[in-house]
Amino acid sequence: MSAPVVIAIDGPAAAGKGTLARRLAAHLGYAYLDTGALYRLVALQLLLTGADPGDVTAAVTAAQNLDTSRFDDPQLRTDRVGAAASRIAALGEVRQALVGFQRQFAAHPPGKAPGAVLDGRDIGTVICPDAPVKLFVTASPPARARRRYLELIERGEAATEAEVLADLQARDTRDQTRASAPLRPAQDAHLLDTTNLAIDDAFAVALAAISGKIAT
Ligand code: C5P
Repeated sequence: MSAPVVIAIDGPAAAGKGTLARRLAAHLGYAYLDTGALYRLVALQLLLTGADPGDVTAAVTAAQNLDTSRFDDPQLRTDRVGAAASRIAALGEVRQALVGFQRQFAAHPPGKAPGAVLDGRDIGTVICPDAPVKLFVTASPPARARRRYLELIERGEAATEAEVLADLQARDTRDQTRASAPLRPAQDAHLLDTTNLAIDDAFAVALAAISGKIAT
């Protein structure tokens, strides 16, 4: 049996990579892993136990004992957990503790799927640098803030667009400047700017970009 195909999708928050990754996985019959959820799971675990998100030992312990039964817990998607996840993700020891889970998923996709789509910040650069397909999905900060703002409002969370924009920019800076696995496109990544693209268009562009590399 040939090795599973890996599609690595990276980019900043709210650029549309999650929606795109899910759709590509469904279209190709691949398994999908939202790696941001792993950092969020660690953050949630710390918040639930009252530990500080800066507590490296507690964060590494949580990362080594991931409670994946909480993958669909709505608390994972809150801004509070997202903010703590962003801080935790800057800790090299935590990142290291989560590498094995991600590589295992890519090498052995659940359900014996023929491939895996992983989205995150460092999939093409650190987790799966040999992935045959890499996309780096971006959008302008105001476009991303607008999308995130609408999501939060729909979930009934209080926010202003200006606050969401400031928060996204702070997280971008943290993701891009951290010493361990900073957010940046892999050299061989295909860049996809979704600022002016509806999801159907972004999906069509992504599919065209990868069609030369794998059977779509
Ligand atoms: O993508 P999402 O917003 O759910 O990710 C939560 C946080 O986890 C992000 O702010 C980012 O700092 C971090 N993250 C990361 N590397 C990944 C996925 C997420 O550093 N592969």
